[in-house]
Amino acid sequence: MHYKSTRGQVAGIGFIDAILMGLADDGGLLVPEYIPQVSAETLKSWQSLSYVELATEIFSLFVNDEIPRSDLEKLVQDSYGTFRHPEVTPVRKLRDNRYVMELFHGPTFAFKDVALQFLGNLYAYVSRKTGSVIHILGATSGDTGASAIEGVRGKEGIRICILHPHQKVSKVQELQMTTVDDANVLNLAVEGTFDDCQRIIKELFADVDFKHRYHLRAINSINIARILAQTVYYFYAYLQLAKQGLADKLNFSVPTGNFGDIFAGYLAQRMGLPIHKLILATNENNILERFVNEGVYQPGEFRGTYSPSMDIQVASNFERYLFYLYGENTEDAAALMSLVKTEGKLVIPDDKKATVAADFAAHAVENDECLAVISQYYDDYSYLLDPHTACGVAAADQLTGTDEVTVTLSTAHPAKFNEAIALCEIKQSYPEQIEALFSKPQHLKIVKGTNEAVQDELVRFF
Ligand SMILES: *Cc1c(COP(=O)(O)O)cnc(C)c1O
Repeated sequence: MHYKSTRGQVAGIGFIDAILMGLADDGGLLVPEYIPQVSAETLKSWQSLSYVELATEIFSLFVNDEIPRSDLEKLVQDSYGTFRHPEVTPVRKLRDNRYVMELFHGPTFAFKDVALQFLGNLYAYVSRKTGSVIHILGATSGDTGASAIEGVRGKEGIRICILHPHQKVSKVQELQMTTVDDANVLNLAVEGTFDDCQRIIKELFADVDFKHRYHLRAINSINIARILAQTVYYFYAYLQLAKQGLADKLNFSVPTGNFGDIFAGYLAQRMGLPIHKLILATNENNILERFVNEGVYQPGEFRGTYSPSMDIQVASNFERYLFYLYGENTEDAAALMSLVKTEGKLVIPDDKKATVAADFAAHAVENDECLAVISQYYDDYSYLLDPHTACGVAAADQLTGTDEVTVTLSTAHPAKFNEAIALCEIKQSYPEQIEALFSKPQHLKIVKGTNEAVQDELVRFF
């Protein structure tokens, strides 16, 4: 399998080079050269596979022989052996026709572990195989940083530096990042906002000389490996429910921010997975809901919500969907994306609106509704939803019929977001792994929000 860019100037890239490239060199996003097809018979034959076996089958469709099968098996085993649940991403029944798939049993209690455990091992593998040095530089508003650090801590050939806005991430998120004491991890707490962190990273990556001299690699959600890893659990949930005869009209409801997780679902569907409806759930930062329901993609004003990992106005993976919406036409996708820059928005014609409506249903969840759903499911079904998952469940409740079965992706453990849970007057107990963080020493360096300040630290560290 080779990879190509949505903007047409990069093509014929192998899997490993696609991982290392991150963002395509022409500014677009990498996608597979073609979408591999999974037949109904193959799907049926996968019903008895464990999560690890299934993941190996699906990855091998995208890797071909660039990584030998036995190496791939080991990579997958190592990545999901760290999960606390034997099924990795178990599917649980909430009530009639409503299920959640718990994606939070990895080291940092958020779904990003599913992709970043794999990407971390993949980077280590590439470093070993090629003898190359890998220096990861990233910015986080919370979950990605913790997950990425867990993915590579202590691994030979890799160093990681993560920028987070000083005292602007949740306490648990801060502790998850800063209590790691491996020498290959550097936490920079930037005096400023998440936007400042992201701007600094972007400018440092744009300095090609600096980027090459220090072997900088990215871990943000546009990396194609993250999408592929997330495709696996859509298949897994489908197969679990199909075994019980519950997959005839199977929907997935996905709490969405950067469009990465739901794009993985779209890809699974294009590969042949019979998904009835893909439901896109947003919070009050509803740019994607407006796109699905009105055909206009226009970044609006930032709103702080109870589901901060979805507080996003520009969805970094959106361009991948546009590319497929326009029949893989690179010129159309690039022209539309440039409209967002020049005009501040893009508008699609009615025929495309109809295609979008066939691909997705969407609902934007207001802050009060989010809390009400957490309380309702806790009181009526004894299940504690985190605020992100609650947005997904709220959307499922709005948009599904009685003859449909819906799986909401549960993207985080409620302990990570106790601020919202406390507002519902629910007292939760923390898992022991999170409780233990509060007594560990922290390792971080506070820096000014300037390129020079961050660059100085990097030069010393890398
Ligand atoms: C990152 C994140 C999301 C959003 O996922 P995208 O792939 O960016 O759409 C939702 N919930 C939680 C808890 C997250 O950490």
